Amino acid sequence: MDTRSWIDQVIKQDQIDKYLINGKDFINENEIHNKLNMNKDCSKEKVRAILDKSLAVERLSFDETATLLNVTDEDMWEEMYEVAAEVKRRVYDNRIVFFAPLYCGNLCVNSCRYCGFRKENAGEERKVLTAEEIRRETDYILSQGHKRVIVVYGEHPKTDAKYIAESMKTVYDVKKKSRSGKNSYIRRINVNAAPMSIEDLKMLKEVGIGTYQVFQETYHKDTYKSAHPKGLKANYRWRLYSLHRAMDAGIDDVAIGALFGLYDWRFEVMGLLYHADDLEKQFGIGPHTISFPRLTPASGSELSIASKYLVNNKDFKKLVTVLRLAVPYTGLIITARENPEVRDEVVKVGCTQLDASTKIGIGAYDKAAHNEKEDKQQFTIGDNRTLDQVVNKLAEMGKITSFCTAGYRCGRTGDKIMNLLETGTEGKFCKLNAVLTFREYLDDYATEETKKIGEELIKKEFEEINNMEFYKNNKLLSVINDYYKRISE
Ligand code: SAM
Ligand code: SF4
Repeated sequence: MDTRSWIDQVIKQDQIDKYLINGKDFINENEIHNKLNMNKDCSKEKVRAILDKSLAVERLSFDETATLLNVTDEDMWEEMYEVAAEVKRRVYDNRIVFFAPLYCGNLCVNSCRYCGFRKENAGEERKVLTAEEIRRETDYILSQGHKRVIVVYGEHPKTDAKYIAESMKTVYDVKKKSRSGKNSYIRRINVNAAPMSIEDLKMLKEVGIGTYQVFQETYHKDTYKSAHPKGLKANYRWRLYSLHRAMDAGIDDVAIGALFGLYDWRFEVMGLLYHADDLEKQFGIGPHTISFPRLTPASGSELSIASKYLVNNKDFKKLVTVLRLAVPYTGLIITARENPEVRDEVVKVGCTQLDASTKIGIGAYDKAAHNEKEDKQQFTIGDNRTLDQVVNKLAEMGKITSFCTAGYRCGRTGDKIMNLLETGTEGKFCKLNAVLTFREYLDDYATEETKKIGEELIKKEFEEINNMEFYKNNKLLSVINDYYKRISE
């Protein structure tokens, strides 16, 4: 099929209309602006009462979130940072999860004004990876110790749902021996790709998609229109309901995000919460994660970095803090677009997932494996540290890296996580998985220096586990202790 005919059949109007409520979107701009304008009473008493609700791991209302977004007193923000860190500890303990992005193709029919892959960018060298090239990329990612990837694609008939499904199968098939001779493989593939039809999404479900991630970029319609002047992506609603369609396709693990810097950051935070809320209302399950990439310079990008809505580091920390407080049981992802200092700072207030050893050029991991120079990338990477370097830094901060990929099976969503939290069960099982998978990482991939810091941390974690009331007289603990001894011999 030629590109024009392909484009003509992508958008299915009935797969938009079915999610509208009384013909309307769940994003009502006037309502969001009103919430932000009406909730300007940020007295200490009021803010502290809201923080107590977050500490009880309850989701905040739109009004409460708007109040937090309006806080101007810097001392109050310091309190909010502390509470956000505590909320994170209560829900996720001190665990962090890692992944690596794998860019499979940069052909694109769209004209997003901020992106180097936009079709008008003649300076971009276009490429779609073959199965053999995907195998080589995966091989390198495995050699770093990763167990999760997120595969990323432009929107194009050459990288349609069929190609995406095939490329996922290829990634899952790659096996690589670790240092200790174990067979390692990618256990979870998340997908960041354009909005698709329910039929196409079912194809991805069949090959074992982990999380399906689509960023709305901006919830503000006029801004959306000017940032996406042409192409399939110009359709705001096709994108807005992409994750609703995923739910209908049986993919109940979805991820939302906004590209910060296109419009007012407080409005976008509210937009993300309305999005999470509508998914929960219509399907009973909120998003697994929220992402908040900041606009970074991209080769051939038309949108200048002088946009008046660019978010500075201080406000960036604030927006992550409010998200952590507003949706305590939703994962928060901070990518390597940010520099190490910003990432280390923002992890403290509530992020749960990071990428590392990141390369976003097409075929860039294999180039790195052969010490070749990289091509131009989609945008600029701020954190070029290897997985080992980031794991090391986080271990110094007392954070344990979990390579457990069972999160989605643990039912880390809505009611289920609330039940696990209320019974106090969630943290315990996840802690065990984190310790065991971290131990394996230290043996199989870590440098001597990281191993040393990591082992100290594991010792502390094990003491905690052994002292937990939950495990007293629990047979599971002796099984785990035996297993731990075996893998550390
Ligand atoms: N083509 C698909 C899409 O647009 O949804 C997925 C791939 S696209 C490369 C993934 C994300 O990269 C976009 O959703 C956008 O938020 C982000 N992105 C694009 N250009 C960027 C830039 N200059 N700075 C930061 N993030 C950018
Ligand atoms: Fe294409 Fe996605 Fe880049 Fe837009 S953001 S130009 S759709 S790759």
